[in-house]
Amino acid sequence: MRLVLLGPPGCGKGTQAAVLRDRFGIPHLSTGAMLRSAVEADTEIGRRAASIMSRGALVPDEVVQGIVALRLSLEDCARGYILDGFPRTVAQANALQQMLARAGQALDRVVEFTISEDELVRRITGRYVCTNCDAVYNEHSKPTQRKNICDVCGGSSFRRREDDRVDTVAERMAAYREETAPLVPYYEDKGLLTQIDGSQATAKVTAELLGTLA
Ligand code: AMP
Repeated sequence: MRLVLLGPPGCGKGTQAAVLRDRFGIPHLSTGAMLRSAVEADTEIGRRAASIMSRGALVPDEVVQGIVALRLSLEDCARGYILDGFPRTVAQANALQQMLARAGQALDRVVEFTISEDELVRRITGRYVCTNCDAVYNEHSKPTQRKNICDVCGGSSFRRREDDRVDTVAERMAAYREETAPLVPYYEDKGLLTQIDGSQATAKVTAELLGTLA
């Protein structure tokens, strides 16, 4: 199964992608996570991307497309994958179509999570991440079960994402509205799009998502 999850930052794409990864045993490919690893490892791509990401803008198409093309060519993607955060522009969507066509493949579904901007700001600014294993939590909707202890690895050190600050969030929303939202009609025209109300409780969103993929 080859899926694209679309939606503004904070809509729950990453959370739902992790559920699908466990359910279907296919990799969850987050371009944001790949770029953050490159920044941490101080690679050439990471150095190019760091300042762009910290101000909430989009990394150039050709950089992200290169990373994705390489990742999709790996063995573990042969049975399918969940793309989270890619494509983010029409140019990236066209590049993905070409990568798929070259491999004789096609997307099965594109799911967009819809949600209001007020709710997004509340969610993003409440988000925190385990320093050890990168599990994502939220002060409002998904705190750790035991105070300050990671549910996944037992770690007790957490951090905020550099780009989850209120000022940067506005920039990321604008990038979504201007550059990514045109992908909704793009995939609608191809008959691939399903929209799900992402403001519902996580379990309800998961249930609807699994329903559309059944
Ligand atoms: P995310 O974790 O998906 O919110 O992505 C974090 C940041 O990484 C974004 O704000 C962008 O700066 C960058 N990024 C991630 N995916 C892409 C993409 N497909 N195209 C351009 N920039 C991206």
